[in-house]
Amino acid sequence: MDNRKAILFSAPSGSGKTTIIKELSKRYDCFEFSISATSRSPREGETNGVDYYFISHDEFKRRVANDEFLEWEEVYQGICYGTLKSEIERIWNNGHVIVFDVDVKGGKNLKRYFGDTAMSIFVMPPSIEVLEQRLRSRGTETEEAISKRLGRSAIELKEAPSFDETIINDDLQTAIEDTVKVIDKFLSC
Ligand code: ADP
Ligand code: 5GP
Repeated sequence: MDNRKAILFSAPSGSGKTTIIKELSKRYDCFEFSISATSRSPREGETNGVDYYFISHDEFKRRVANDEFLEWEEVYQGICYGTLKSEIERIWNNGHVIVFDVDVKGGKNLKRYFGDTAMSIFVMPPSIEVLEQRLRSRGTETEEAISKRLGRSAIELKEAPSFDETIINDDLQTAIEDTVKVIDKFLSC
């Protein structure tokens, strides 16, 4: 199998991308997560160099000026996230398939960049109400951050048709099985 492939996950915050990616990583030894850089602070349980490269806003801007990003977005006001070019070579040199967790705009940009080398997957929550419940029950965001994320999600949900596949994340096990099916098809072609 040619492992120089990539799988892009995008969805509104709280849809379950991280949960699904963590489950898939247990099944696919060939997967390696593209660690994004971000200027937000780590949440409890997050580790620098594992979940993200946590850097200051100034450091982020310095790296932008240095042309170190393949794509980047100010996803929320004052909080930037970006895919470092160095991640692509690092992961492909390891012989692994790159797995991205990026916002919807980033997902569309990366799909345009990678073309058929990548499959883009949109993770759809069963409803906005469930999305809100999940964001609250995760307990990682302030009220202000939750409303920023929900405000953005209505716009993001409309972008689902631009992705190669849409997975509805209602029951988690069903969503994982549905994702495995589309990934197996993509990796074997
Ligand atoms: P994202 O990475 O898209 O922001 P997360 O993976 O952090 O979303 O999921 C948000 C919250 O919803 C987490 O607390 C997670 O445990 C929970 N969750 C994810 N998928 C499901 C599901 N199918 N059913 C119920 N809760 C879920
Ligand atoms: P969170 O703060 O919940 O970890 O992530 C917030 C949003 O930023 C999510 O939609 C996530 O997919 C997105 N994100 C994470 N890394 C990147 C990246 O490198 N580029 C872009 N465009 N979005 C990212």
